[in-house]
Amino acid sequence: MRIIPISLPTPFYVGPVNVYLIAEDPITLIDTGPKTKETIEALRDGLRKVGFRVSDIRRILLTHAHEDHCGLAKSIRDEAKDAEVLVHAWESGHRIGRLEYDDHRTLLVRAGVTPDEIESMRKVYEGVRQYADSFEPGEYGELRDEEELEFNAGALKTLHTPGHTPGSCSFVREADRTVIAGDCVLKRITPNPVLSPDPVDPSKRFASLSEYLVSLARLRSFAPTLVHGGHGAPVNDFEELFNRYLRAIRERQAAVIGLLPKSGATAWEVAQQMFPDADDVHRFLSVSEAVAHLDLAHSEGKIAVEFADGVEVYRRLS
Ligand SMILES: [Zn+2]
Ligand SMILES: [Zn+2]
Repeated sequence: MRIIPISLPTPFYVGPVNVYLIAEDPITLIDTGPKTKETIEALRDGLRKVGFRVSDIRRILLTHAHEDHCGLAKSIRDEAKDAEVLVHAWESGHRIGRLEYDDHRTLLVRAGVTPDEIESMRKVYEGVRQYADSFEPGEYGELRDEEELEFNAGALKTLHTPGHTPGSCSFVREADRTVIAGDCVLKRITPNPVLSPDPVDPSKRFASLSEYLVSLARLRSFAPTLVHGGHGAPVNDFEELFNRYLRAIRERQAAVIGLLPKSGATAWEVAQQMFPDADDVHRFLSVSEAVAHLDLAHSEGKIAVEFADGVEVYRRLS
């Protein structure tokens, strides 16, 4: 089974996104890139170089429903005459290219984000959502954990690896322990555990960072030899990266706890101290990061949290 990486441009700060062509029947594309003219042209070029066309694609697998990964799914599906689109059911919070903003608003209010700030985050999101076509329920199939995706030659095992988003999935070729991991594993950056409603109970927050730690450990149990991420170069020393991630998470947790004043602070106040210069979409990502670390520290019994006037206030224990 040939796995062919294709790098595509995005209009986002993160830079190019990696999508993967599985050049075996049924011809499968893992992730699509955002919906821009430059991206679809680069995809056509990339496919042509290896002897394929968009219309050859029979199946589209989405690692997750962020615009840089799923944006072109609908137009490729249409051009390829109803290629099958598969995504994990827990990605429904994003409705594939359409964030359920009301659920997010509730979470942002609880994190202490001010109404003005929430409004400007919403505007930033309105700018981002143009890079993906949304899917209605019934227009896509569901990826299931441990499901074997068969090809003419070989198979990929789907692994549900939540954390970056609730429905993030990775794909493992067990024959040589190659993994395609989307934004679950990135060579240069520790993936952001994005603030998300819990898919099971949207009034609650998804425990993104503790889920992420479980996903990393699960990937590690396959002893990957090569991990293809959603951005940047592949990782051929997963063990080193795994340990680096754990260290980075522990260091950041200590820093976050250190930022809590005696009187307590909201996640938004912590985020502003951690990333005072964050602008644009990074203001949302900074509060995501703060909430994720505070939640993990709280679940580990290291800090206390009180709910007062609709806002969560975190305190050090002593
Ligand atoms: Zn992502
Ligand atoms: Zn990404």
